[in-house]
Amino acid sequence: MLFRAASLLAAALASPLALAQNPSTSTTATAPSPASASSTTAASTFSPLPYPALDTLPAAVPGWDAKFNKGIPNIPVNAAQLPTPVWTKYQRQCISPGNWAVTFDDGPSDPTLALLDELKKRNIKVTFFVVGSRVIQNPAILKRAFSEGHQIALHTWSHPALTTGPTSQIIAEMMFSARAIKETIGVTPKYMRPPYGDIDDRVGAILQALGLTVVIWSYDSGDSANATDVAARFANLTVGPKVGQITLEHDLFAPEASQGPAAVDAVVAGGYKVVRIDECLGGAAYDESIWSGFALDGSLGPFVNTANLSQPPPAAAPAPAGAVPSPGLTGAGPGTAKGAGNDAAGTTVSAFLALVSLAVAAAAML
Ligand SMILES: [Zn+2]
Repeated sequence: MLFRAASLLAAALASPLALAQNPSTSTTATAPSPASASSTTAASTFSPLPYPALDTLPAAVPGWDAKFNKGIPNIPVNAAQLPTPVWTKYQRQCISPGNWAVTFDDGPSDPTLALLDELKKRNIKVTFFVVGSRVIQNPAILKRAFSEGHQIALHTWSHPALTTGPTSQIIAEMMFSARAIKETIGVTPKYMRPPYGDIDDRVGAILQALGLTVVIWSYDSGDSANATDVAARFANLTVGPKVGQITLEHDLFAPEASQGPAAVDAVVAGGYKVVRIDECLGGAAYDESIWSGFALDGSLGPFVNTANLSQPPPAAAPAPAGAVPSPGLTGAGPGTAKGAGNDAAGTTVSAFLALVSLAVAAAAML
């Protein structure tokens, strides 16, 4: 698991080409620089409202917290991710025994492109559980996956073990990742998967309050633990009585993503129908109700009521997209890379959040 956390951080730091060539060597835990964070982001794609630093647990956002942090069980934050989380309350199989939902986590990334090419040849539609920080880095890849008919689902902003994060920050994790997707492809996923499957009743209640449906898996391909025989493993799963499988693969690194096409072929050869999660579970893929009460304004973000602001927010601050820090970060989990932040911009962000607090308080009085 430590390897996995380090690898995820490496993905945020290294160029896509370097990752594809040698994904296992970049494990130095240093924070992404603003320059590297913005290098692959089209300036016109994302609003100037600050996003958290990439791969860093966001600070609480007052407006989102006021709406969603209610009635959450008072279960302590874990010091480390659960070794054996209980998944009985969450989706792990397709309704129909003949369906198989092929899912890929942790992208979008450069290796996703070759996978999309192969899926297109086969006219196969899968589900991508994407990380918000990767969406900021690779918006064009997300757009392509969506436009080619694949389902997009949530996998947090910075890939933490969620049971190790404070409730307010878990809300921000989900909302910032949802917002990155909304600003890129115009929809908001209904389904989410917690990194490492790390979930307890507190995290489950938070995700329910957000209106999200949790999807775990019936079978982990093992690709993130360096398995190289995913197709053979899937072929074995097709033998015997059929159950509605939801399988876990990854598309962050080439050694993982490159196994996807043969694995899909094994599923089809075994007599299964490959489906997206929405068909697998019988629900809509997207749901915009999470934004109810918030103005999803490209320049001001989803949680600011401009009528209550006495002066414009610092939207024109010349900070690079995706590289603005979140002040007061605490509790980054083992799957999270702590960013160094940008102290020069911190005061501006603090003032901005204070304005947001005032706006929320004013709205509450009306
Ligand atoms: Zn993951």
